[in-house]
Amino acid sequence: MISSRAVSGVLLGLGGLAGTLLDGVPPRPPLYRGGLQVLAADFHVHSFSADGALPPWELVLEARRRGLDAFAITNHAQVWAAKLGRWFSRRIGGPTVLVGEEITSWDYHLIAVGIEASVPWNQPATEAIEEVHRQGGVAIAAHPVAISWPAFEEAIDTLDGSEVLHPLVHVSPGGRPGLSAFYERGRSRGRPFAAVGSSDYHFGAGLGASRTYVFVRENRPASILESLRAGRTVVFDEEGVAHGDPALAALLESDPLPAESRPDRATVPSRAAGICGWLGLAGLVLLRSTRSRRGVASSAVR
Ligand SMILES: [Zn+2]
Ligand SMILES: [Zn+2]
Repeated sequence: MISSRAVSGVLLGLGGLAGTLLDGVPPRPPLYRGGLQVLAADFHVHSFSADGALPPWELVLEARRRGLDAFAITNHAQVWAAKLGRWFSRRIGGPTVLVGEEITSWDYHLIAVGIEASVPWNQPATEAIEEVHRQGGVAIAAHPVAISWPAFEEAIDTLDGSEVLHPLVHVSPGGRPGLSAFYERGRSRGRPFAAVGSSDYHFGAGLGASRTYVFVRENRPASILESLRAGRTVVFDEEGVAHGDPALAALLESDPLPAESRPDRATVPSRAAGICGWLGLAGLVLLRSTRSRRGVASSAVR
């Protein structure tokens, strides 16, 4: 009989394989609108050896295959894997890799992009943002659903932007309204506030499935960070509705990007691959915890 563990393993493998085979984007020349280059970017990506399945060099290849011009590797509490990805991508002429981190506190998650050293998580959001800025980086509120709003109450005035699109909007009833409301609050403060769409990629389908279009002078880290600070971004949700800078969104609506550079409208097969991968991983984790509980029980009997 086939064990549940084997089924979970097969599902995880299928999800990863299908996710890798689907939604590839052919190489394309740089895109310009309004005198600026439009980059497809994903600023929230995890890699092996943290909680992502792919090592940094595989992420670089996968990002290139998915038509990303730039992405940030944002592991929890470490930046060395991101630096490895940056080094590798420079060697092969791949997408621009920004060094980042997901600062993971008890009551908030914060994406730091453009830093060089890990930022301590056990501090208020305002102080973490201050440290990100001191290093020359930008600070983006990660999946800010209502539960994390109190932690960002003061910090919202120093944040550079927030995730307005994230896979959470597909699985949590409070996801979409929470992220939209937080972004509108940030935008209403009278200073630039970047709309960001992230995949929070861990494995399987979806690297760059939610993405940010950044309008830059050139595809280099300093220029990307400058544009994020200035709020020069547009994010399309899966209905095709644009969020972000209204003038830039109007530019993309009047002169749309070519369809082949828009894999952010997830296809049914790629969503199925993602679900397959998640189910497989959940099965393996659950079975592992069941086995370890049994192991504790049997050693207690002995
Ligand atoms: Zn998070
Ligand atoms: Zn994350």
